[in-house]
Amino acid sequence: MHDSFDQQHIWHPYTSMTDPLPCYKVKAAKGALIELEDGTQLIDGMSSWWCTIHGYNHPQLNQAVKKQLESMSHIMFGGLTHQPAIDLAKLLIDITPAALDRIFYADSGSVAVEVALKMAVQYWHAQGQPQKNNFVTTRSGYHGDTWNAMSVCDPMTGMHQIFGSSLPNRHFVPAPQSRFGGAWQPADIQPLAELLAEQHNQIAALIIEPIVQGAGGMRFYHPEYLRQARQLCDRYNVLLILDEIATGFGRSGKLFACEHAEVSPDIMCLGKALTGGYMTLSATMTTQHVADTISRGEAGVFMHGPTFMANPLACAVALTSTQLLLAQDWQTTVLNIEQILKQYLQPLSQLKQVVDVRVLGAIGVVELKEPVDLARFQAECVRRGVWIRPFGRLMYVMPPFIISAEQLKTLLQQMTEMIQALGEMA
Ligand SMILES: *Cc1c(COP(=O)(O)O)cnc(C)c1O
Repeated sequence: MHDSFDQQHIWHPYTSMTDPLPCYKVKAAKGALIELEDGTQLIDGMSSWWCTIHGYNHPQLNQAVKKQLESMSHIMFGGLTHQPAIDLAKLLIDITPAALDRIFYADSGSVAVEVALKMAVQYWHAQGQPQKNNFVTTRSGYHGDTWNAMSVCDPMTGMHQIFGSSLPNRHFVPAPQSRFGGAWQPADIQPLAELLAEQHNQIAALIIEPIVQGAGGMRFYHPEYLRQARQLCDRYNVLLILDEIATGFGRSGKLFACEHAEVSPDIMCLGKALTGGYMTLSATMTTQHVADTISRGEAGVFMHGPTFMANPLACAVALTSTQLLLAQDWQTTVLNIEQILKQYLQPLSQLKQVVDVRVLGAIGVVELKEPVDLARFQAECVRRGVWIRPFGRLMYVMPPFIISAEQLKTLLQQMTEMIQALGEMA
């Protein structure tokens, strides 16, 4: 099942080329099922990293791509525009916080973050404060793998020391400790308050994932942190960038996670589930004030323009995916997934090999005491007919919203048995 050419020549995410982890070859995928080359069916617990909210091979999304393909798959966005970009922009402006009504299309989540950071720097440059060009963020964050996105990722998990002085030095404050659904500890916000009081003159923006810290630790924090962070940004003239790339489009139980705190950012990044997982597209949204200020600056323009900006195929499928989500009672769907996740995962917190269990919306996380042996674990997943990909001590699922209750229960039953078996091995 493992392809030797693939193993020798093709890099996979975060893997070694000399000692690659096994990769399973996929033949097809439909709904919540992944079919391997030998016919093995796996229930998908990952949504291909937050993306495939409507499942794989969805007839309406397929149709949207086919229809767009017949008119044009791509056209340059410099000097030209098209209906899918306009219709998607209207919809995104409509459903995101009211102040966000300017949009920049980019080609991946990391690039949306780069664009957001550049917007913030150009904004302060245009305000006559070019020294406000650094960023503050929290530990345990994840914002992507390109250079500046990486510079605001957690320095430990991002291995900043390897890149040495070539990586810009950002300001880090501790990750919020008050849990979502728990008590608010006022001391939580102190480090950010102190840092902004001292350094605001050289800080362009705070960048943070709202409520859910994803790949940097799968942590859910108290909405009060975000509310107070917004107030601090206002007090100290620092822009607030919210990275909704993982959380957007219903995953946390709200359409956008910032709604848990009723906070509106100055700049917001979207990606991942934007196209329903069909292809890569991202968007950076901002306010008229930020956009106008940048446009009045020395450059007179915003200095970014990717080749595949607003790719029509991607815009068309993103429009259909978002319409499909809004046309259904997705809140109840996510709530039902949340209830089943809680029912199956919470009892695991009793096990000695488990440090913590947390569930929010359609995200379930089991934090283990020891890291899992990934190669062994994945072979066991495949044997049991499920697809879960842990990292380090974190085992988590974020299934497609269309997963049936029965499929979800099977997935969680298998996950439970595998976690129980970890205790027996220890
Ligand atoms: C995945 C992710 C990114 C990066 O997106 P890519 O499309 O992988 O470049 C940025 N921020 C967050 C919060 C993410 O989860």
